Amino acid sequence: MQIDESVVFITGAGSGIGQAAAILLAKQGAKIGALDISDEQLKETIDTITADGGQVIGLPADVSQPYHVEQAVQQLVDKWGRIDAVFANAGINGKWAPIEELTADDWDKTLNINLKGTFLTVKYAAPHLKKQGGSIVVTASVNGTRMFSNTGASAYSSSKAGQVAFTKMIALELAKYKIRANVICPGAITTNIGENTQKSDNLAAEKPPVDFPEGSIPLTHGQPGRSEDVAQLVLFLVSDASKHISGTEIWIDGAQSLLMG
Ligand code: NAD
Repeated sequence: MQIDESVVFITGAGSGIGQAAAILLAKQGAKIGALDISDEQLKETIDTITADGGQVIGLPADVSQPYHVEQAVQQLVDKWGRIDAVFANAGINGKWAPIEELTADDWDKTLNINLKGTFLTVKYAAPHLKKQGGSIVVTASVNGTRMFSNTGASAYSSSKAGQVAFTKMIALELAKYKIRANVICPGAITTNIGENTQKSDNLAAEKPPVDFPEGSIPLTHGQPGRSEDVAQLVLFLVSDASKHISGTEIWIDGAQSLLMG
């Protein structure tokens, strides 16, 4: 898969899926613009890539803030002169709660980071991708796309459904510039996302009965996927191996979402 010397802009690169993608793509020769809101986590990614002999620039920023994202993109272009691919991946679970308990601020926080953040990431990178073409990969989820049984995750699921629509819109809008755009929908993946999840104690009463005796991830007997598994899909989607794939969602969930619609 050819990505040598490509400049790849990755958000949420300090942990989990974004970090695994940054490390894998750097190993394949890509130059990584690693954006994250956490300096500490970003440092871990930078240290790992640098120790492997890879090339990376750290871009501390909040994806929900237009000026932050604009500045991060500028810093990346100042460093390497171009952007070939974007992995819009930063996201939070946010507050999972019954609808009466979910506040307007909870809703805004989740939508601002997950959906507006994706828009801003693509918006500011697009002029640079347009110069030579490229690939955009967005991280949505099984939630809001093929799975609707996580009661309480209405803000999160709406943000993820919005990312799918957004990706398809830009796939068509940017196709004439030889820019592809695809959206990946992971199921349960072992990462640090639990740390930014606030689950209400009142969810149990609202939950419909969905129990599966054989485990909820058929392919792995219930074991979650790994960030490294998702990183392999990102590598495929930014490389020329996927050069005719655009405007589509790809679930990466061990068939989990087929059971738990
Ligand atoms: P993670 O918490 O391990 O990593 C997310 C990273 O995003 C963190 O480093 C965090 O600091 C960063 N981040 C959070 N808010 C930010 C902001 N405002 N600006 C910049 N960076 C910010 O979680 P992960 O599981 O790797 O999540 C990555 C993406 O995968 C998210 O969009 C998430 O919704 C999606 N996802 C995860 C799973 C899963 O099971 N882990 C499943 C489906 C989808």
